[in-house]
Amino acid sequence: MHRTPSNSYLGLEVAPAFFKPIQQMAPPSPTKRHTKITVVGTGNVGMAIAQTILTQDLADELSLVDVNADKLRGEMLDLQHAAAFLPRTKILASIDYSVTAGSDLCIVTAGARQIVGESRLNLLHRNVALFSKIIPQLAKYSPDAVLLIVSNPVDVLTFVAWKLSGFPSNRVIGSGTNLDSSRFRFLIADHLDVNAQDVQAYIVGEHGDSSVALWSSISVGGVPVLSFLEKQQINYEKETLENMHKEVINSAYEVIRLKGYTSWAIGYSVASLARTLLRNQRRVHPVSVLVKGFYGMDEGEVFLSLPAQLGRGGVLGVINVHLTDEETEQLRDSAKTIAEYQSQLGI
Ligand code: NAD
Repeated sequence: MHRTPSNSYLGLEVAPAFFKPIQQMAPPSPTKRHTKITVVGTGNVGMAIAQTILTQDLADELSLVDVNADKLRGEMLDLQHAAAFLPRTKILASIDYSVTAGSDLCIVTAGARQIVGESRLNLLHRNVALFSKIIPQLAKYSPDAVLLIVSNPVDVLTFVAWKLSGFPSNRVIGSGTNLDSSRFRFLIADHLDVNAQDVQAYIVGEHGDSSVALWSSISVGGVPVLSFLEKQQINYEKETLENMHKEVINSAYEVIRLKGYTSWAIGYSVASLARTLLRNQRRVHPVSVLVKGFYGMDEGEVFLSLPAQLGRGGVLGVINVHLTDEETEQLRDSAKTIAEYQSQLGI
């Protein structure tokens, strides 16, 4: 499904006449890397990610994969037709995974939708079946890639992807609470009338209902908010804080209720992860990583979001943020629930 150059259907080889190569051309510097990103699943989320990657000039080559061949080709053409307005990126699409060969980053957004009355566990079984087709193919064609899982339930599916790929755990990441934390930062910024980029705040743990807000480490413009308020003896309502966290949890449900799906924020959130990974930015993002050994979580192989430093090699480390006893307990409870859930998958 690669694009046919227009001069070939004229039956003319016009390019050499039109463009005369210089003599004694030296090969490009070997330090200049060619970057390739694959997005599997070209639904609402996959396409928002793809278009953000293109506008932010994050890849030399973008390959798209889906099972719906017509939709896939339509999306590829629609993006290619924007070439005159975008940085140059080669866009490929196919239902065959050979198109993904040599990717540096593979982003998986393919997912089955919940059927009315279907249990979460049943949906998960269907998504595991889907992943067992997708992940081995990605691993085969891009054995050195970082896998970035977005499909839900993201923490469990990141574990599934890790098992099915055989990759080391530093190269398998779930988008996790990177989006939840951005929603959190937006709400705090809105409340204080500051720029969300000046707000440092993390939601960690499970992406979704049992996520944990790290109140004690919130800072705005370098000022730790809660300890500042306490020192200045400024009263604040604990309920306001709890409501803000509840609003973060309900955000996705609210957007889905109103427009049917979420797309733009997850698109930007994943593009920001792609930038940190591929440009080796060593930035800290709350993403789903194998938690064994961190914050006293030693049992089970569970992926949950922790503030992790990311770079070209994937996960470089986990930041040792101060957690209260209550926050640690909440994290451990999440890990136990997910471990029990995973034990029913037979992986
Ligand atoms: P969607 O239904 O619009 O798109 C899913 C796409 O996956 C479809 O194009 C479908 O054809 C494709 N697909 C299905 N089976 C496939 C297979 N075997 N191989 C390749 N492609 C396949 O759904 P969406 O709104 O784009 O959401 C995608 C996933 O992202 C969902 O699981 C959703 O819950 C999740 N999501 C996660 C976050 C997060 O923060 N982690 C945020 C938003 C959405």
